[in-house]
Amino acid sequence: MTDKLSKIWLSSPHMGGREQHYVQQAFDENWIAPLGPNVNGFEQELQKYLHTEKKIASLSSGTAAIHLALVQLGVDKNDIVLCQSFTFVGTTNPIIYQGATPVFIDSEKDTLNIDPVAMEDAIQDLIEKGKKPKAILAVHLYGVPYKVDEVHKIALKYDIPVIEDAAEALGSTYKNKFCGSFGDRGILSFNGNKIITTSGGGAIICPDQASKQNAVFLATQAKDPAPHYQHSQIGFNYRLSNLCAGVGRGQLEVLDDHVRIRRNINQFYKDLFKEVPEIEVFETNQKEVFCNNWLSVIYIRPDNRLGLSKDSIMNALNEKNIESRPLWKPMHLQPIYQDHNYYGNGICDDYFENGLCLPSGSNMTDENLERIETSFKALLHQ
Ligand SMILES: *Cc1c(COP(=O)(O)O)cnc(C)c1O
Repeated sequence: MTDKLSKIWLSSPHMGGREQHYVQQAFDENWIAPLGPNVNGFEQELQKYLHTEKKIASLSSGTAAIHLALVQLGVDKNDIVLCQSFTFVGTTNPIIYQGATPVFIDSEKDTLNIDPVAMEDAIQDLIEKGKKPKAILAVHLYGVPYKVDEVHKIALKYDIPVIEDAAEALGSTYKNKFCGSFGDRGILSFNGNKIITTSGGGAIICPDQASKQNAVFLATQAKDPAPHYQHSQIGFNYRLSNLCAGVGRGQLEVLDDHVRIRRNINQFYKDLFKEVPEIEVFETNQKEVFCNNWLSVIYIRPDNRLGLSKDSIMNALNEKNIESRPLWKPMHLQPIYQDHNYYGNGICDDYFENGLCLPSGSNMTDENLERIETSFKALLHQ
């Protein structure tokens, strides 16, 4: 039965049409390297899209961007980095690459992102122990902006730089400024599941031209200016290829369409569950924010009268070949990180236990949405 139904993915690549034009140009001019006109063009077009004076370097992944941000901020062995626990492991692992130690912070209910109160508790506690954190990693999860004013005010008070993980939030804004442009460093991801993709890639957003040049230097093996290969620093091979950047340029042309469609899908879920007290579509109450709705998230009230749980819903959708997935498993619950310190009240634990991400891809068809609607109505006995 199921094999007759095409798979509905959570979020799959959605090409706009002009990507191949840019890739063809790269072939025509033989720019098949991690540099070239598409790389430069993509960076300029991204900067324009974000309406920022900050400078952008495109990289091989969002994870690489976070790693370079940590390097640039001087995070080293024996340093502590405060990190939102509710995130993808790509946020956290670069802290370990640097030999530093993550300390995890819970989320607050209004955004599912870093809780400023728990964050300040952690800072004060660690300062008392003589271990002032070297950096803060905050995430705009599922495209919902974190409490930028509150978080950055505390960071400023204690003079700790913030790395802003906007991997899921390209197109989201906070007080009319684009996510990615707030942190001492910002990062983006163009992985295949993100709102636009380069088939794999990322970017670091730097405060000025000099720090961008340093990021590019580090991302291309830290070659000293000499005719021979000479190195006085450890570098990385993290630059984005000119072919992938071509895909990115085509994708940027349809980014606003993708945002609009994902927001419509979010509205579709809100309408679907309007009269359903068991299921709540997650939404922030913050004023002055605009969400790209990268993924739509529902919260299933525990002990509801229909006996619904995230697992029962996930299984029922799977029967209809519809992909859904629990929210990110918090880092402080991960086997690799469970021995690390965590400050908070179990908010992200609760959302991990009772939350579910629903299909949100901008390439879903009307048939896809109908199948999702019918499947839920059966589950809800409507
Ligand atoms: C996808 C993602 C990353 C990592 O990006 P990659 O390009 O996959 O390395 C980092 N943080 C968050 C929150 C992400 O969703």
